[in-house]
Amino acid sequence: MNAALPVVIVGGGLAGALAALCLAQRRPDVPMLLLEADERFGGNHTWSFFDSDVPEEARDLIAALNPVRWPRHTVAFPGRRREFDFAYNAVTSGALDALVRDRLPRNAWRTGAAVASLDADGVTLASGERIAALGVIDARGPDGPMPGLDLGWQCFVGIEFAARAPDPSCATVMDATLPQIDGYRFVYVLPMADDKVLVEDTYYTDGPDLDVAEVADRVRTLAAERGLSGPELRQEHGVLPILIGGDPDAFWPKGDPIPRLGMRGGFFHATTGYSFGLALQNAVTLSRGSESFDSAALAEWSRGRFERHWQAMRFFRVLNRMLFRAAPPLERYRVFEHFYRLPIALVARFYGGVPTAADKLRILSGKPPVAIGAALKALLGR
Ligand SMILES: Cc1cc2nc3c(=O)[nH]c(=O)nc-3n(C[C@H](O)[C@H](O)[C@H](O)COP(=O)(O)OP(=O)(O)OC[C@H]3O[C@@H](n4cnc5c(N)ncnc54)[C@H](O)[C@@H]3O)c2cc1C
Repeated sequence: MNAALPVVIVGGGLAGALAALCLAQRRPDVPMLLLEADERFGGNHTWSFFDSDVPEEARDLIAALNPVRWPRHTVAFPGRRREFDFAYNAVTSGALDALVRDRLPRNAWRTGAAVASLDADGVTLASGERIAALGVIDARGPDGPMPGLDLGWQCFVGIEFAARAPDPSCATVMDATLPQIDGYRFVYVLPMADDKVLVEDTYYTDGPDLDVAEVADRVRTLAAERGLSGPELRQEHGVLPILIGGDPDAFWPKGDPIPRLGMRGGFFHATTGYSFGLALQNAVTLSRGSESFDSAALAEWSRGRFERHWQAMRFFRVLNRMLFRAAPPLERYRVFEHFYRLPIALVARFYGGVPTAADKLRILSGKPPVAIGAALKALLGR
């Protein structure tokens, strides 16, 4: 083993870039190479998160990403509207790209570097170049199948308009007071600046098919109805997995010699498909200094974190079964409407993936928002 060989992170998206930034900051002694197929890091995303998703040790890193911050956020359903004095934040992929270029030594990153194959000892680029590595981390994102997993989907299209939101200090994280189509549907409104607003039309659907052009037209209609239209600045779309069940060992076979981070390693919140908080936690833990950074040690470390995450998501998989299997698609909004009767501290722990036992009881208490027989079947996993 050659200690001078780098740790190669394959994929400079959210998880790979955050891991590289944390390593550069906290373990500058570890040689590292971040390889990204695209010409920029982070793709085309707006990543949102609650304060509670950010570990203490990552606060300075997040501050350097210049997040947009809303001191308040709202949710709305046909039968419930709530506003919370609880901050919501978002960072852009443009900020992540800029920070990687600013903070990583120039020899620690490459763009336009598509990896054709990888193994525990190194990677081969599409160009044929071979790069030997001490450790290889697969952070190539969610593309491709997620074998062994039983999934629902969260599909969305967002358009950023040059327009002013009525209250730029408040984010609308779910507004389901609109016709339900295909499943649970809501609009998401983030005032990104005084003169810029991101409007997203989101669906919890049974399948991953998203007609981007059709939903983009619906976004334009929604924006016009809400007085948020203006010149279009950018567009993004996503198809995120919502975990209902499955076999973790089929998804990530035990003994796989390649360490994983991000969506590639199943590190997403089962109910939202979001991965920002987990990517940060993994990045911080990685840079806290495992004794060795060879592939074998990193594979054991990351597989161990996946196993703990899978356990932690058990309760969420049960709720998702209720959402997708017990509620008729156009009634799914009732599950969220019922959930949002709860205190904001509990809601934050839920989205942080760390509900307490008492939280779980409270979430399941009260009259179920779906037929009792179907809810019981979902709870019992049948
Ligand atoms: C539009 C959108 C908005 C989202 N918003 C949120 C949000 O608000 N909050 C949240 O928590 N989550 C959000 N998510 C979900 C999730 O957090 C993101 O998908 C996140 O980017 C996943 O991080 P990742 O690093 O696993 O994958 P990615 O960020 O997709 O990164 C993977 C990277 O690997 C690169 N790559 C792939 N193959 C190769 C190869 N062969 N060689 C080299 N490089 C390669 C890709 O080009 C890409 O840059 C959003 C997702 C989308 C699509």
